[in-house]
Amino acid sequence: MNIKEKQFVFKSEIKQLLDLMINSLYSNKDIFLRELISNSSDSIDKLKFYLVSKGKDIKLNNNFYIRILIKGKKLIIRDNGIGMTYKEIINNLGTIAHSGTKKFLKNLKNKNKLNNNNEINNNLIGKFGVGFYSSFIVAYKVKVHTRSILEKEADKSILWYSEAQGIYTVNKLYKKGFGTDVILYIKDSCKEYLDINNLIKIVNKYSNYISIPIEYKIFDKEKSKFIWKKINIYEAIWLKSKFELIDNDYINFYINLTNNLGKPLIWSHNKVEGDQNYISLLYIPDTSPWNIWNRDEYKNCIKLYVKKVFIMDDIKKLIPYCLRFVQGIIDTDDLPLNISREILQNNYVLKRLGNSITNKIFKMLNNLSLDIDKYNIFWNQFGLVLKEGLADNSIEKTKITKLLRFNSSKYDIKELISLDNYVNNMKIGQDKIYYINSENYISAKNSPHLEIFDKKNIEVLFMLDRIDEWMMSYLIDYKGFNFCSINKNNNINLDNILTTDTNKKLNVNDGNIVDINEEKFFKRIYDLLCNNIKEVRITDKLEKFPAVLVTDTNDISTQMLKLLKSTGKDVPKVKYYLDININHIIIKYIKTIKDSNVFNKWINFIYYQALLIESNSLDNPVDFICLVNDLFCNFIIK
Ligand code: ADP
Repeated sequence: MNIKEKQFVFKSEIKQLLDLMINSLYSNKDIFLRELISNSSDSIDKLKFYLVSKGKDIKLNNNFYIRILIKGKKLIIRDNGIGMTYKEIINNLGTIAHSGTKKFLKNLKNKNKLNNNNEINNNLIGKFGVGFYSSFIVAYKVKVHTRSILEKEADKSILWYSEAQGIYTVNKLYKKGFGTDVILYIKDSCKEYLDINNLIKIVNKYSNYISIPIEYKIFDKEKSKFIWKKINIYEAIWLKSKFELIDNDYINFYINLTNNLGKPLIWSHNKVEGDQNYISLLYIPDTSPWNIWNRDEYKNCIKLYVKKVFIMDDIKKLIPYCLRFVQGIIDTDDLPLNISREILQNNYVLKRLGNSITNKIFKMLNNLSLDIDKYNIFWNQFGLVLKEGLADNSIEKTKITKLLRFNSSKYDIKELISLDNYVNNMKIGQDKIYYINSENYISAKNSPHLEIFDKKNIEVLFMLDRIDEWMMSYLIDYKGFNFCSINKNNNINLDNILTTDTNKKLNVNDGNIVDINEEKFFKRIYDLLCNNIKEVRITDKLEKFPAVLVTDTNDISTQMLKLLKSTGKDVPKVKYYLDININHIIIKYIKTIKDSNVFNKWINFIYYQALLIESNSLDNPVDFICLVNDLFCNFIIK
């Protein structure tokens, strides 16, 4: 049957990507083969699952393969997997079903991943899932000939091809068996990929543990005919005993499993027998996948096998979402092979399995935390993800709180401490865990709020992540000590450590003024700033600074305000307390100013500097600078 050829234009991101593939030099071109083999392996896994869910015994039909063939100047990667329908091929190879490619391109540009020779960092390709397009690194033309398992008529199979010039063509072409052939027309400059010995080496390097035989054709002299010979080890290493395996076996398996060329930070290999029967091999990676924050796209990275047969990955709810960085496999005897996806998601056995795996992961993390350097890598990559778990009712909070790490006022920026460290450092009589929310380490370290704590040698934790404010709403106490924000009006009482009275309250609104001599002065300040502040109060928590802004206990914090603003939300106006250090030389000077115009300028100066310290920026910095210049000029003229 002759069905008309149809031409399509690639979506612009793909065009951009293809230009890069064609025009850039790769320090390691080999990875295209890994990407194509990985796609083939996925397609066979999908087919197996499809067959199993239709009640077929796939063991009876166990001749799945990925084959590498060289025909003249063409390299063919063949699989007998699930194949693609007309619609699927257009969706999968003509558009970007996920935003991976966009992110890939952005990442290249942002981080300048093209070095002087215009080389692309190959690690990025696997990470960003732009696998198929890497064919164009070595091929000037690529054909994909595919027949979906759903396509009954062989002559309705699909032929897709492109020379990457912005367009691709789709046609229908007879194909006998199900599955996909990817046919690469190898560039003259890449002839090494037409040498089978070279290809074998590459497979051994990158795809050894793919659990489908990867085969090539060889002439068997004894049988005097061509046979298919397996290249890869093709071994379910998790079925071996720990004692038979060395670190390198685990690391190589991890590289093959994840396409992440980094090393795992830690792994755990367990065989559970008795009440539950399963084997797990779990890894904590050292690099965060690019899409870990994208709820729609991110997949749980634990693959489920039943009796050595791959069933599925991305098992929702198997482990808590905040542990989604864990990679690995679980192989269980407790589930039937022909279980459907829907049933699987709500299965009781799976739920128990999930609980048991979750406990293992927390144990791994606790072990990892004993190695400070490695744990810091973990924390930098996944700390934010783990923090999400505090809002997850299915997890015991202490499991997470034990693993939290913070900067603190006592240590430099590189050192992170745990809540246990903090509690051990607490002063006698200290009954609270003090913390400050700030945008970064430097502003926290230099905050006026910290002055009194530094003076009294009381440690303060720094909450520097944007979600920390949210996180603290789930943390009330640790080991019986309440958390207390020092940016907020929490009636902080350091009496048993302090010698002087702090925070004498001076409420100008209701006339309840503690020190009658200050009344007029404070009233003038309040009258000027009443649109922006709640109250003016005296504090003796300050020394270096004339004033500081304090957020009321139940008001939204400055950090949270900024977070909301950055998401384009309307934010409520927050009025602060203005705490004044009446012993400061500037305040003493201002008190003597009679001219109300000059007085107002000085008070505005005090207010704006406190606001700048509190929020790290001002809505109108020019106003502030003009004010400061004005005050300076007056001084100079005097
Ligand atoms: P990724 O594999 O990361 O999704 P690719 O660009 O490599 O990205 O592939 C895009 C999609 O094309 C795959 O998700 C898959 O659905 C489909 N695909 C690619 N190769 C094959 C194949 N050999 N058999 C079946 N489908 C395939």
